[in-house]
Amino acid sequence: MIRRIPPTLLTFFLAACATASQSAPSSTGAAASTGELPALDAIRSEDIRKDISILASDAMRGREAGTIDELRASGWLVEQIRGIGLEPAGEDGTFYQWFNMRRIRLSDASQVQVAGSSLTMWKDVIVATPTDVTLNLPLVFVGTGSDAELQGKDLTGKAVAALLVAPPNPPGRNVSLASWRYATGAVRAQSMRILAKGAAAVVLVADSLGEQGMPFFAANAGRGSYGVDSIGIEKRPRRTPPVLLVRGAMLDRVKAVGSQLSVTLTTESFTYPTVNIVGRVNGTSASKRNEYVLYSAHQDHDGVRFPIDGDSIWNGADDNATVSVALMAIARAFVKRPGERPTLFVWHGAEERGLIGSRYHAAHPMVPRDQIIAVLNADMMGRNSPDSASLLGVQPPHRNSADLVQMALRANDLTGKFKLDSIWDRPTHPEGWYFRSDHLPYARLNIPAVEYSSNLHPDYHTPRDEWERIDISKLTRMTQWMYATGWLVSNAAQRPRLDPGFKLER
Ligand SMILES: [Zn+2]
Repeated sequence: MIRRIPPTLLTFFLAACATASQSAPSSTGAAASTGELPALDAIRSEDIRKDISILASDAMRGREAGTIDELRASGWLVEQIRGIGLEPAGEDGTFYQWFNMRRIRLSDASQVQVAGSSLTMWKDVIVATPTDVTLNLPLVFVGTGSDAELQGKDLTGKAVAALLVAPPNPPGRNVSLASWRYATGAVRAQSMRILAKGAAAVVLVADSLGEQGMPFFAANAGRGSYGVDSIGIEKRPRRTPPVLLVRGAMLDRVKAVGSQLSVTLTTESFTYPTVNIVGRVNGTSASKRNEYVLYSAHQDHDGVRFPIDGDSIWNGADDNATVSVALMAIARAFVKRPGERPTLFVWHGAEERGLIGSRYHAAHPMVPRDQIIAVLNADMMGRNSPDSASLLGVQPPHRNSADLVQMALRANDLTGKFKLDSIWDRPTHPEGWYFRSDHLPYARLNIPAVEYSSNLHPDYHTPRDEWERIDISKLTRMTQWMYATGWLVSNAAQRPRLDPGFKLER
């Protein structure tokens, strides 16, 4: 259910922003004039449709990070932006910024025995996170592991078994693969509570919905975890206590007095090449030449995975081919008419593996970090109702620049005039949407940042996220909105200021 910002609140908010930033243009909602957005017409829906039909096609095989498919999509992107007229801003005079991604997964040699039965990995038992641990402990069954059931129980060093219970925020009806999200959310919440009591291992017995989610959970957990070597990921994970999910049929054996848990878990790790694509349009102002407006997208998605309805290519049309082609259209506009400040375009690799490309670029930026004055990121801009969308980083504690928000709202007035759905930006939102895309590493470094999104839909992260389901007209208007924001920032008298006291809730 889309919630609009009530008019009274909006006026109040804009007033608040207005006071916060005297220099920014007023948000009277005056219609866009060509004078104000001189190259708006360079953003054309037919280009966007053509580009997305290629980038999100089956031929691109879902562009999984660390595979030849992501590299191939990146090569295609580079040839497109070279043709558009972007300047290379990557390494060695190229458009590429290369780096290695590390993957850590449970080795096939790993074994689990519960109550004397050897369980088949990823079929009868899921190990939630890869870890290197060998243990042999009696199982302590604690029912659902509620605070009342755990009251007075000393779980230190014990292997604790419990019945899986629903996660704090069960996935809504509008969410894809709900059973998977239910299972992962429940395992995460319940194991954290039990581990906080000092348990050495956790065995959760799936309920019916949790069991439905096991195949997807297994396919994902089996892949392991990903990170970037140079930014603090350990070469080998800590010896974290194992968290196991087993089928409901195991309940009696787990509950049986004297039943034992015996595990030998080992990990193995690999590195894979991945890449950010970086291009630039120089500005027209000498005094502002060291102030970059950064447009952000990610070119990767989930690749070829387990089939759903016979389709195993997870195309990632909305996530995030929409924004990858939007940046190409915005590049056409800035090449046609550069702003006063330079514009940097970054297609981040390996976003789906944990914001890896943006964490890498934020840590190793291709221009000095203090010259990045604003990050305009977007993730999924082509679905859901045609006249509404979300702008994240608007409400404290996610807002880090009232100036930037003001310009983005003005840009919306000048272009898409979308009704803004504010709930996705709330710290209370169960999806934690603000923390799930590439603006985050920059915002964490106190760079003014916002995110555009048309939010979740039932095809999210499934093979059904196909380009034919994208609302090209909406996507074009979202692209115009993003462009207009960057144009206003590029030509503003002063760079957006960081809000004093900005601190994210996690
Ligand atoms: Zn995405």
